Amino acid sequence: MADEEHLRQIIRSFRRRLRQQYAIGLTGLAAILCLAITSTTLFGVSAPALALLVLLLMAALTLWNWRCPACNRLLRIGSKPVVCPHCGTQLR
Ligand SMILES: [Zn+2]
Repeated sequence: MADEEHLRQIIRSFRRRLRQQYAIGLTGLAAILCLAITSTTLFGVSAPALALLVLLLMAALTLWNWRCPACNRLLRIGSKPVVCPHCGTQLR
């Protein structure tokens, strides 16, 4: 019973991380698209430099977020695994 509840918590946590990962990707791409269209400068920083900052922020957020809720190891970028490739815990 406790194991089933633990597994449900892991699956819920993975779903939340997946939603956050979509939000990171979509928000970052929208920001880069806006920079490309408008060529905005912000505090004297050019659009290409701002786009690079957005990419670095997306990478940092992905490294923080895209982890197995059970073993906390980084999942493969761009994958949507059913089980963790490291510890074998069911994620979906
Ligand atoms: Zn794992």
